[in-house]
Amino acid sequence: MENNCIFCKIANGEIPAATLYEDKEFRVILDLGPASKGHALILPKKHAENLFELPDETAGKAMILAKKIAGILKEGLKADGVNVVQNNGEAAGQTVMHFHLHLIPRYENDTVQVTWKPGTLTDEEKNEILGLF
Ligand code: 5GP
Ligand code: ZN
Repeated sequence: MENNCIFCKIANGEIPAATLYEDKEFRVILDLGPASKGHALILPKKHAENLFELPDETAGKAMILAKKIAGILKEGLKADGVNVVQNNGEAAGQTVMHFHLHLIPRYENDTVQVTWKPGTLTDEEKNEILGLF
């Protein structure tokens, strides 16, 4: 557990949160500032700052858990879709530096914004990126 990490404290039960699911490795809670009805967060109990620090095994289990919880939320709340969002770094909108997956149920005509303006893929950038792999 990391000192002064709010999600470590919530995940490990030191600070109460509305818990939808818990096992040895994860706690799933309702977001305090929901983007939509049912907005939930999947928190690993063991601290990792972001996706790059997360052990592979935990990363795999987190996505399987996302599938399960998102399905229950979608069906139970009669949502029309679900966004699975995961921010890494301040520039990407991460505000709590403990890895978490957002599950955001979506409803026809809601006003949630998880969008961007499409840009242009130039040949130069494409070749630069393809060269990384
Ligand atoms: P991020 O921007 O880091 O991806 O998302 C952090 C999320 O955590 C935000 O959606 C915010 O509403 C939520 N959050 C921050 N503090 C708390 C808290 O103390 N309890 C709960 N349940 N959610 C929190
Ligand atoms: Zn933490």
